Amino acid sequence: MPLLSIVIPCYNEEDVIGETMKRLKTFCSELVNLNVELIFVDDGSRDCTRELLKNYASEDTRIRVIGFARNFGHQIAVTAGIDAASGDAVVLIDADLQDPPEVIHQMIARWREGYDVVYGTRTERPGESVFKLVTARAFYRILNWLSDVSIPLDTGDFRLMSRPVVDTLRAMPECDRFVRGMASWVGFKQINLPYKRAERFAGESKYPLSKMLRFAIDGILSFSTKPLQMSVVFGMISALLALIGILYALGLRIFTNIWVEGWTALMITVLFLGGVQLICFGILGEYIGRIYNEVKNRPLYVVQEYLGFSQAGPKMSRSPVVNKK
Ligand code: UDP
Ligand code: MG
Repeated sequence: MPLLSIVIPCYNEEDVIGETMKRLKTFCSELVNLNVELIFVDDGSRDCTRELLKNYASEDTRIRVIGFARNFGHQIAVTAGIDAASGDAVVLIDADLQDPPEVIHQMIARWREGYDVVYGTRTERPGESVFKLVTARAFYRILNWLSDVSIPLDTGDFRLMSRPVVDTLRAMPECDRFVRGMASWVGFKQINLPYKRAERFAGESKYPLSKMLRFAIDGILSFSTKPLQMSVVFGMISALLALIGILYALGLRIFTNIWVEGWTALMITVLFLGGVQLICFGILGEYIGRIYNEVKNRPLYVVQEYLGFSQAGPKMSRSPVVNKK
């Protein structure tokens, strides 16, 4: 029988994890002709999430736990889950029940029809602030405009991926991971599945504004070099403005008796050019920082413990730590 791996990243989710487990177990009991493994990645939670997960794993052989040594972030947690999954298809789902597990049935149906990636597209997002809705909408559109790969709009990480796609993702070594974009980059047969996103079951979003911004910048910079080309445009615009200024000043000097007043024009020019230059440096710096990160070649994550995997842990892991049973 084929195996389905479900990867669930968890960070301080003690309030929801019990309910998530219930819903997932109900979902699993409805599956026909399919074995399932549930891979919970505890992303260095500081509450009781890890203990709860350990208890669940000791009661049910389908449950596996990857315990990170610290908080590495959502995208890295998902990556660790993908690395450790041994299923013929892998599903990524949030722990907070915003992505209803029941939708996975439809994903499986699509997969059986021969699709390699079935990604959930959010038609409704109740319970999110207007600010989040507006910024998220804008982000996906800007990303698509800038990016060289076409990344579907309004799509999160909730998706099913077939083994070939998963193996390709595992072979991608980059440390800035924008999983939804990487899965688009891979190619194969992809299809969207519209679904209604639910409200978070309990607890608070683990994505504060700062993390969200970082995530958005990561997405854009990992998938596009257009910002670098934009520096050239900035440069050209300021050169053009300077040219107009020169012609204007010369014209006045030659054809009239009025001279351009010095101080204001000078200050504006200096500040404008300084601003443009700093912006371009900043963009350049972002890319150089990323090169530096990649060159260091550190492991993506550090696993403190693997639980529920057979013998020596999963077949593949990027963590240097050898499994403690
Ligand atoms: N998450 C994680 N590590 C983090 C932040 C979040 O593993 O550093 C998990 C979190 O537990 C949840 C999923 O990623 O399962 C999505 O996070 P959240 O629901 O807080 O984000 P939002 O839905 O508000 O964008
Ligand atoms: Mg959420």
